[in-house]
Amino acid sequence: MILEQQTISTGFKIICTDCGSLSIKATDPAHASDDTIIECSRCNAVRGTMADLHMLAERSRDVFEF
Ligand SMILES: [Zn+2]
Repeated sequence: MILEQQTISTGFKIICTDCGSLSIKATDPAHASDDTIIECSRCNAVRGTMADLHMLAERSRDVFEF
């Protein structure tokens, strides 16, 4: 799998670059660590990690609702 470089350098993909979907697979926060991979719920492409998602949520709290 070739995912580390891409996802870490670009951060979390809000919109899937493969299928354009906004949906992500639901992850159980209790069992997810920062390096847990988040996948697209439609095509299973890698969208980022929990750490990316947290960072995004911190930065864009006023823009997006989680
Ligand atoms: Zn997708």
